[in-house]
Formats: sequence, C-alpha cells, structure tokens
Amino acid sequence: MTTRFHLHNYGSINIDHVYRVPHLVRPGETLASREYRPVLGGKGANQSLAMARAGGDVTHWGRLGESDRWALAPLREAGVNDEQLELIDGPSGHTVIQVDDDGENAIVLFGGANQGFDADRLDTLFATTSPGDWLLLQNECNDTAAVIERALEADLQVAFNPAPMVDAIRQLPLTRLALLFLNRGEAAALAECDDSTPTETLIRALTERYPGPDIVLTLGREGAHFLPGRTASELPRFEPARSVSAVDTTGAGDTFIGYFLAALQHGRAITECLTRASAAAALGVQRPGAADSIPLREEVERLLA
Ligand code: ATP
Repeated sequence: MTTRFHLHNYGSINIDHVYRVPHLVRPGETLASREYRPVLGGKGANQSLAMARAGGDVTHWGRLGESDRWALAPLREAGVNDEQLELIDGPSGHTVIQVDDDGENAIVLFGGANQGFDADRLDTLFATTSPGDWLLLQNECNDTAAVIERALEADLQVAFNPAPMVDAIRQLPLTRLALLFLNRGEAAALAECDDSTPTETLIRALTERYPGPDIVLTLGREGAHFLPGRTASELPRFEPARSVSAVDTTGAGDTFIGYFLAALQHGRAITECLTRASAAAALGVQRPGAADSIPLREEVERLLA
C-alpha cells in the first residue's frame, strides 16, 4: 500500500520483568517467585509494533541495553525499521512487576536507556528526517520538550501522546502540533477539568484551550472521538467501542494509536482510521498482555470484512 508520509517514533522500549508471587512482597521480606517472564513493553515500542502490524511504515528511534537485544526480534518481525535503534552498555528501561494470586500488581519502573538521549544522539536522528515527515512521541523518554521544538523547527508533523501526563506538558507548544492522542485522564489534566467532568464539557474545554491540533480522545469501553483542529474540512466523529468481553485492557491505547496512524499513513478517511483502530483495540483487550496482544492486520481485516 502506498504511504502518504514517513513516521519516526521517538519512543521508549521497556523490558517488563514479570514475577508471579503468592502475595506482594512486604517490607523486609524475601519472597520466592513461582514464575518469571521478561516481556517487551514500553508505550513507544507498543505503538511502533501496532503501527507495523497494521502495515504501517515506522522507524523507531530508541535505546536499549545490549543485553536485552532479544527484544529487537518482535519489533523486526513486525516490520519496524530499527536502523536508528541504539544498543548501549547500560541498563534498558525496565519494570519489575509482581503479580499476586488475586491479580493485584506492584511495579517498580527504571527509565534506564530511555532517559539517556543526548544532544548528539538527537542530531543524528533528526539528520534522517525530511520536512513533511511525521514524528510520534510519548512522554517516556527524556527531553520531550526539546524533541518537540526540534521537530517543529524541522517542519515535521508532530503526533503526541502525553503519557505519562505531568504538569509541565501544559507548557509545551501543543497548539502547533498536528495530532494529540489523549485518554480521559490526560484530556482532563490538559484541560484542567475534574476526572468526572461530563464528556461534552471536557471536549469543549479541550478544544477551546488547544485549538490547532486534531485531537483523538479515547474513552476506554465507551469509544473514541475525533475532534478536528487543523483539518478544518473534517467533522467531529465518534466511534463507539466494540462490545467485547475484555480480559486485559493494558496497551489498548497503544494499539489504537498505532492502527490509527497506519490507516492515516495509507490515506484512509478519518472514519476508517477510527473504525480500524477501534477494531484492533477491541481484539487486543480480549487477550492478556500488552505487546503480545496487539493483533495482526489480517485479524483486523477479518473482523471488518
Ligand atoms: P492504555 O493506557 O491501557 O493503553 P488508554 O487509557 O490509553 O489505554 P483507552 O481509552 O482505555 O486507552 O482505550 C483506547 C481504545 O481502546 C478505546 O477508545 C476503545 O476503542 C478501545 N477499548 C478500550 N477498552 C475497551 C473495552 N473494554 N472494550 C472494547 N474496546 C475497548
């Protein structure tokens, strides 16, 4: 399929170290784990994976510890371009996740390689872009503000998923971006509304405060809104979520974003981008895991047929 633009993803790669334990470890306790699994994660890697599985063309700008090289395999297998991925001597970004018999979890996060981008690295990465390319980013790597500034100077179209959301994000030049992907919590924080604000009020506050970017607002099992900003020829759209029995919604947003962007890259209409993203996310929530649960393009095609 022909693509309308190239997309670079300045995104985190995490290794999730998942331990099954009878209960979450208590202060001072040493607890044996029954099972251990290292799993590829990080919002950046998940979004690249989703985009590539959707048939999109994405180059992942990331950093990973050399000893976690195995994590490149699923990205490569999906078709993510990893030419700009840097392997380093230090630790990868990672989490230590305990999951107990009740399904409760406790997580320690270490930013590691994701927090180690420096100016030289950014020079190298931006040298690979051309005006009109798209840059996607989340907020799990360091220097988000500097990367957005450089992308705008280089005439790139910026798509931003401000997760994790922090107060400083409100100071970024968000009105100059092409596309914002927000869940309810992120939208409420940006618009300075309560989490319980009715959706219509939230949308009004958001679009008044951030004119400019198109906004995709995802609302979990309710569905997703497209709120046109710069694409003035578009109408606001709403895509209800598919009614499915969800077993694990981790990564639903990442799957949605990857599939939406791949459809946009293929020149599809906004309504189709929403439909495909929603179908992919609905397939993903019916399976455990995050990266593992991102569906293949053929599965989404079958669901939409
Ligand atoms: P996460 O942080 O877990 O990746 P998120 O909070 O960023 O997710 P959500 O708004 O929860 O993102 O979900 C994104 C999209 O996934 C929704 O707009 C919807 O299309 C789909 N989705 C999420 N939960 C469900 C569900 N229970 N059933 C069907 N579709 C769902």
